[in-house]
Amino acid sequence: MLTKAPRGTRDLLPEECAKWLYIENVFRETCTLFGYQEIRTPTFEHTELFQRGIGETTDIVEKEMYTFEDKSGRSITLKPEGTAPVARAYIEHKLYNNPLPVKLFYITPCFRYERPQAGRYREFHQFGIEAFGSPSPLIDVEVIALAVLFFEKLGLSQLEVHINSIGCKACREDYKKALKDFLFKKKDFLCDTCLLRLERNPLRILDCKNPNCQKILEDVPKIVDYLCDDCRRHFAEVEKGLTTVGVKYQVNPGIVRGLDYYTKTVFEIISEELGAQSTVCGGGRYDNLIEECGGPHTPAAGFGIGIERLVLILEAKGLIEIPSKEMDVFIAVMDENYREYGLQLLYRLRKTGFSAEMDNMGRSLKAQMKYASKIPVKYAFIIGEDEVKSGKITVKDLATGEQDKVSCDEAEIYLKNKIRKGC
Ligand code: ATP
Ligand code: MG
Repeated sequence: MLTKAPRGTRDLLPEECAKWLYIENVFRETCTLFGYQEIRTPTFEHTELFQRGIGETTDIVEKEMYTFEDKSGRSITLKPEGTAPVARAYIEHKLYNNPLPVKLFYITPCFRYERPQAGRYREFHQFGIEAFGSPSPLIDVEVIALAVLFFEKLGLSQLEVHINSIGCKACREDYKKALKDFLFKKKDFLCDTCLLRLERNPLRILDCKNPNCQKILEDVPKIVDYLCDDCRRHFAEVEKGLTTVGVKYQVNPGIVRGLDYYTKTVFEIISEELGAQSTVCGGGRYDNLIEECGGPHTPAAGFGIGIERLVLILEAKGLIEIPSKEMDVFIAVMDENYREYGLQLLYRLRKTGFSAEMDNMGRSLKAQMKYASKIPVKYAFIIGEDEVKSGKITVKDLATGEQDKVSCDEAEIYLKNKIRKGC
């Protein structure tokens, strides 16, 4: 127990952190290109936020939340997704008083009590964006196009974009009726959870992962056939906009998403590399969430990208080999008498911006040089009696084996010229 991380959680070792840092930077750059600014919200929220925001009858709220009482008896939940907390922050800080739309992005851990498997964990991480305040279909287009450009920047241009519309409150009522009639006839084949949902929230059944339910859903009435004029026009404009900005997509009537807050456009970005957990990005429009959580009526749209799944795809395609970073300098000392001299130089170099290391294991000079070749490092500065007396350090280029003598005072200038970087 003590030496194993809890089920469904993972450590990211340095090699993996380098990959994550790289994709985080690409995500930040892409968001900046589109005018989205970063927001960070707490790791936990009041449970009610998710019950209201995500919906009482969703898988997340019914089965997957990490909920507990704190010592004062408040019900607290570790965030299972990023949108509801950002919506809460939008209301709390009255961001609606800013020029609209307000465009935000985040990088966050999420927690869901699910059965761990490849691409599915109990603690996972999401990149997300949210655009608040505009009902325009061009915002839906922008949200999808940002995700697509982000994937393209990482070398992924073959991912499939599936879009659908699940309508608004008005047109959904007719559809719910048709869906209920259809499913009622097949109720003997539905799983227990879906049986309960038949009365409470039949739309949720469309997102059930149970194979028997999935089979029934093959012939289910399609929501796109029930859209009101406004929703139909909106969807047509999303399609037109995607074509204008060069995003390839397909309409997939099966996509409904697992969260109740969506309205009109929903979409998923899918990779065949992921097997069963094929969705790397999910999102859409949610015009009622802000109001539902106590804010002013605010149309909005956004997405969440699963970072672990993204890393799996990039690894499978060989698109994320990050070479380990070389140190600039290793200071090797002949023996303990030269340590102080070495230490002063070590901290001088670090302060001027060169990465530098020194032995802390009591190694012999030979062992220090062997260690330096393994770290890896570009130059070894060797300090012994001659060097201290003459004030000139022996510098060895560990790639070529070439040696130089360099005045200790000019070590930084020498490195700057060699490495070509500013101090
Ligand atoms: P799924 O249908 O695979 O359970 P979801 O619809 O629950 O996904 P969202 O809530 O839309 O997923 O979250 C957005 C993205 O976060 C998903 O597309 C996926 O990439 C990632 N994700 C969701 N749940 C997990 C998890 N348990 N482990 C790792 N990544 C996850
Ligand atoms: Mg899920």
